[in-house]
Amino acid sequence: MKRFILFLPLFALALGAGFVSCSGSSASSRPVRAESVAIWLKNCTNITWLPRQVSGRYDGASARDNINQTAAGHAAKRSSYGTAPGGYVRLDPRMLRAVKILAEEGYSFNVTSIAGGSHSRTSRHYAGLAIDINRINGRHVGYGNPYWRKFLQRCRELGATETLGPGDRGHSTHIHAAWPRT
Ligand SMILES: [Zn+2]
Repeated sequence: MKRFILFLPLFALALGAGFVSCSGSSASSRPVRAESVAIWLKNCTNITWLPRQVSGRYDGASARDNINQTAAGHAAKRSSYGTAPGGYVRLDPRMLRAVKILAEEGYSFNVTSIAGGSHSRTSRHYAGLAIDINRINGRHVGYGNPYWRKFLQRCRELGATETLGPGDRGHSTHIHAAWPRT
C-alpha cells in the first residue's frame, strides 16, 4: 500500500507530462508573438535548454534563462564576459517560430546558447537572432551525427541566413543558425 501511495504522484506526473505535446499545426499567417511561442517552446518535451553557459558560468543568461525570460514577456539577458556586451535583447519571433516548427517536425535537440554566452564580436546572438544546438535526436553534433546537415537545411528553409556546423571553424561540436537583421 505504501508503495502504491508513493507511485501515485509519479503516475500523475507522467500523465501530466503526456499532455505536453510538440505536435500541432503551424499553418497560420498571423504574426506570432515571441512570448506565446516561447511559452510553447519551454513546455515542449522535444527541446532541452542548457541551464548554464557552455563556459560553465551561471549568469542568468543561459539558454534556459533566455526562453523563460521571453515566455514571461521580458527581454532576454545577455552575458557580460568576453566579447558579450551585457544588457538585454528581445528574442526574434522568426527564430523562435522556426525552432517550434523543427520540434513539431519531430526533431529533439538541446539548445546551448541564444542571447547569452561570448561569441564573435558582431555575433547575431547579441541581437537575439541566433541559436546554438549541440545535440540532435539524442546524438552529439559532429561528423558522426547523421541529422545536423538536414537540420541546418531546414533552418535555411525557415529563414536562417547564417548556418554553421562541423567543418566550419569553432563549430565542430555544435551548429549555429542565425536569422537576418531587420
Ligand atoms: Zn552561435
